[in-house]
Amino acid sequence: MSLLETDELYVEYTSKKGMTGQKQTVRAVNGVTLDIRKGEILSIAGESGCGKSTLARALMKLTDIKSGEIFFEGKNIITLKTKTEFQDFYKKVQMIFQNPYSSLNPKMKIGQILSEPLKINTKLSKKQITEIVEEKISQVGLDKSALNLYPHEFSGGQRQRIAIARALVSEPELIIADEPVSALDVSIQAQIINLIKHLKDNYNLTFLFISHDLSVIRYISDRIAIMYLGEIVELGLTKEIFQCPKHPYTAALLSAVPQINPNNKTQQVKLNGELPSPQNLPSGCKFHTRCPYAMEKCKTQEPEEKFFSDFHTCKCFLYP
Ligand code: SF4
Repeated sequence: MSLLETDELYVEYTSKKGMTGQKQTVRAVNGVTLDIRKGEILSIAGESGCGKSTLARALMKLTDIKSGEIFFEGKNIITLKTKTEFQDFYKKVQMIFQNPYSSLNPKMKIGQILSEPLKINTKLSKKQITEIVEEKISQVGLDKSALNLYPHEFSGGQRQRIAIARALVSEPELIIADEPVSALDVSIQAQIINLIKHLKDNYNLTFLFISHDLSVIRYISDRIAIMYLGEIVELGLTKEIFQCPKHPYTAALLSAVPQINPNNKTQQVKLNGELPSPQNLPSGCKFHTRCPYAMEKCKTQEPEEKFFSDFHTCKCFLYP
């Protein structure tokens, strides 16, 4: 069952160009249609600057949407207007940010940080809020004595646990985790990844997990969407993506991480050049400027989605 669905979602914003200050349009998300199913971890992978974080912010209604639809539990959230509608949505959908050093208010004790959303958005008594906060801090593996301390008294990994606990207090259905381990030491990353997996398995939570690290994504995901210049170019079960990648960009990303599977017999694809700017998107297939298999029609025509299984889709002219 789909918890969240998008239909042809486009996000654009205006930025100023270098020294000239000239305004330019950044086309960050370009026609994304996908669904997040209840109880799964769907990961979005791609190079930095490919639009992953903008998509996450759009799903959280934190940025303007140019066109398209977003449905959560069947309700179109593009049309949310009232404070009550937003409160209800943010109770059910929470976000974990990349940097646990900046995402927690340094002037508040952890107990206050975790209680605040419940004080603002619910009519729960002080005793009920305390019980929930103590339960959530223990779910993320910290002692309740942590509630009397300030963020600076914790390590990066502990702070990310606290950020996860803050996301959990409203009993959300969906958590959007935007690069939640990339600011942490490698030794700590595994602990946070295992915590997210544990929460998903034991509390029936659903995650949209955004990362550029394919080894992390392989370990944690049920399905993976590969994003290139704001477009989902391939989507499939984790096994399908890693054992039988279809899109040359996916193959290139996997080729760049040889240690993932030393016995991998899939074709190695070298990624040439830099990611084009989203201010100046290539015509046709957006990957044609870097694709070793590009044909003439790739420069002018956009490939449509092809199905390889119930779950596995890819946009590329290599497949009839
Ligand atoms: Fe390469 Fe053409 Fe396929 Fe795009 S459509 S990935 S340019 S072969």
